[in-house]
Amino acid sequence: MESIQAKNIKPQINKQSDFFSWQLFLYVQKHPQATEQRIYEDKDSMLYIGSTRDEGWIHAQQLRNLCSMGQKLQRFAYGRKHGTESWKDVTDKFWSEYMKKGVCSIHDDIVHKWKETDKDRTCEYCGEYETKHTVLKPDVEWRKPLKQ
Ligand SMILES: [Zn+2]
Repeated sequence: MESIQAKNIKPQINKQSDFFSWQLFLYVQKHPQATEQRIYEDKDSMLYIGSTRDEGWIHAQQLRNLCSMGQKLQRFAYGRKHGTESWKDVTDKFWSEYMKKGVCSIHDDIVHKWKETDKDRTCEYCGEYETKHTVLKPDVEWRKPLKQ
């Protein structure tokens, strides 16, 4: 994979994520080499961004953590005791999805930008589609007894 260029994933307004994550933009700006932009998935499906694996060592940061506003760009050395031999390299898959779905490919269901109608809503970023349903929930009320 060629390196991702910061200018191609820059949000429109400084310090604000839109389709693209401001934090991920900062990371790529700081680490422009493809060898530092690898994406790994651990056994719990958690994603990490970091360096090419070197004898079991990966210098990385958890992607969701990195992409939360105000987090430091801070990588840790993950080694065998973190199970790094079995971390799956999903670099190509992740970056191609990120270019299509933006922040939704990092945070799943919590960052959709919904466009709503009376009946349904569609995410402007990733295309997720949901229909609207009215739900009736049981409720409790207090009443005076009827006088006879
Ligand atoms: Zn979405």
